[in-house]
Amino acid sequence: MTLREAQQTSLRRLLPYAARQSRFYARRLADVDLDSIELANFESLPFTTAGDLRNWRDFLCVPPGEVQRMVSLHATSGTMGDPKRLAFTQNDLARTCDFFREGMRYLVKPGERLAVALPGADRPDGVADLLRRALRPLEVEVFCPTAREDLAPWLCGERIHCLITFPTPLAGLLRAFPAAAPPTLRGVLNSGDRIDPELKAAVRAAWKCEVLDHYGLTETAFGCAVECPTHNGCHIRALDVLVEIVDVRTGAPLPPGHQGEIVVTTLRHEAMPLIRYRTGDVGSLMPEGRCACGNDMPRLGPVLGRLDRTGGQARLVRTPKGGS
Ligand SMILES: [Zn+2]
Repeated sequence: MTLREAQQTSLRRLLPYAARQSRFYARRLADVDLDSIELANFESLPFTTAGDLRNWRDFLCVPPGEVQRMVSLHATSGTMGDPKRLAFTQNDLARTCDFFREGMRYLVKPGERLAVALPGADRPDGVADLLRRALRPLEVEVFCPTAREDLAPWLCGERIHCLITFPTPLAGLLRAFPAAAPPTLRGVLNSGDRIDPELKAAVRAAWKCEVLDHYGLTETAFGCAVECPTHNGCHIRALDVLVEIVDVRTGAPLPPGHQGEIVVTTLRHEAMPLIRYRTGDVGSLMPEGRCACGNDMPRLGPVLGRLDRTGGQARLVRTPKGGS
């Protein structure tokens, strides 16, 4: 089965499921002939926005007892009322584990020690737990520094081989270790925020270690796309997440190579699937074709930043895009 056929099959299952199980999509898709929707005319479906998630209960497709993890989204300034939440079932989280296992194989070897320095990563069923589960077959141990910990001495003391963090702590570490990597460290995964290419290049040059990028969203159960050592885009977990790029103003779909807003559809989520969800992040799809690493999953190019839509106009902000 080709990727397109697999996505098509998932889509045929997802649309009636969401329309039947969630109050939001029952309303939103009430006038749509779901049988007529396929990948080719998928763009005719309406978008889902972060604002829609204010009524997150209306998105739930499973009874509360089947929700394994509930995550509150970071409130953006000026919003009031109920925090936006996302729910995941055990199966939703298990698919993220599969993606993490696949993505981390370039950075950790069996028996190595992995550190996750991301806000909130050490919560139950959070990113560290998911990595722990994903990498258990490789006997990779996963550690999280506490918020009070000074990262540089902690990394050395714990003899960490691979670090997952975001640009601010990474820049701090580079100041602490300007000439060579912390003694045991061999690889870094950037996640949570967009990394400046200059910082990435500086770390790779000074530490002589691999630095790969990850694009993830809470909305996709954390994982979405991860870079391979070819450094030519991030491979999307395309069996789980359908990524579109749309014109920021008109919402019209854009072909590979064009910058626009990243729109995701979580094809196989059970608890709260999202259909054509506008992420507010700006990026592009790479031209189609097999990557030099051999993987033929579609690739996301660099994420340029986030859209600020306050005041009615969409403005690109090249700042960190929030937590993980
Ligand atoms: Zn590749």
